[in-house]
Amino acid sequence: MDKALYFDNHNHTQFSFDGQKADLEKSVRMAAQSGLGGICFTDHCDLHVPKMKERYEPPTDEEFDVEGQQREIDRVKALFLEDCFPKVFKGVEIGVYKEMRDKISEYLEANTFDEVIASVHYLEDTDPYWGEYYIGKTYKEAYGKYLETLYSEMVWLGDRFDIMGHYDYITRYAPYPEASILYKDFPDLLDQMLRFLAEEGKALEINTKTYQEYKGRRPVLDPHILRRYLELGGEFVSLGSDSHSPEGVGFGFGTAVEYLKTYGIRYAVHYEGRVPVVTGLL
Ligand SMILES: [Zn+2]
Ligand SMILES: [Zn+2]
Repeated sequence: MDKALYFDNHNHTQFSFDGQKADLEKSVRMAAQSGLGGICFTDHCDLHVPKMKERYEPPTDEEFDVEGQQREIDRVKALFLEDCFPKVFKGVEIGVYKEMRDKISEYLEANTFDEVIASVHYLEDTDPYWGEYYIGKTYKEAYGKYLETLYSEMVWLGDRFDIMGHYDYITRYAPYPEASILYKDFPDLLDQMLRFLAEEGKALEINTKTYQEYKGRRPVLDPHILRRYLELGGEFVSLGSDSHSPEGVGFGFGTAVEYLKTYGIRYAVHYEGRVPVVTGLL
């Protein structure tokens, strides 16, 4: 399989708070070795981090050093200049949070990125990872609230983002037997979200990390969701490994691409200076 035209649009580095195993230069080398066409570094920017009572005191935010990270990207890019391959891009994964809208606005205005992923990591002033978010909620309530939150913050962001990040992140730590977000469970809500993405020219992310097994759970990408996105006129599918270490770069892309092709998707997107560029999936 020729992977030369695939771009990994979602990767973390040592500049993210959870990037202890990351190494930006090694990730670019991994992208080159795997024959990827390009890699975009999208470190975390969550401007509000919930506090968990009686456990530990997290920082109040998880901002990364944009200048330091972009300087490192420029340094590493220079090492690959002769080949101009793989292409390396500067991005951000912005954690949307209603109460932080003003700060998020300022942040996105103050910095320049090739690509902006909008993600929800925290909601109801808690981290789903801790588990309390799910208490007293059915899976439909827990997943539905997450989707509604993501939708309303994307609408608010408008043209300040490019890619909807892992809409199914909320399944990752959930206690329910329903391990996936399925179209049949949220048809109206998903239609609303997918229509918005399609009409506004935003990308649907295929976050391959979500589909790895985690504590015996393995969410799947519901083909009905892909189909609806296409039916509603959506054009941009973004591949992202959500890697936090060089080994994770491009992980699962072979399977994901075969899957996408089964559903008639022939192109994937990446971003250069916030402009979508599509390349064929061979
Ligand atoms: Zn994320
Ligand atoms: Zn991420």
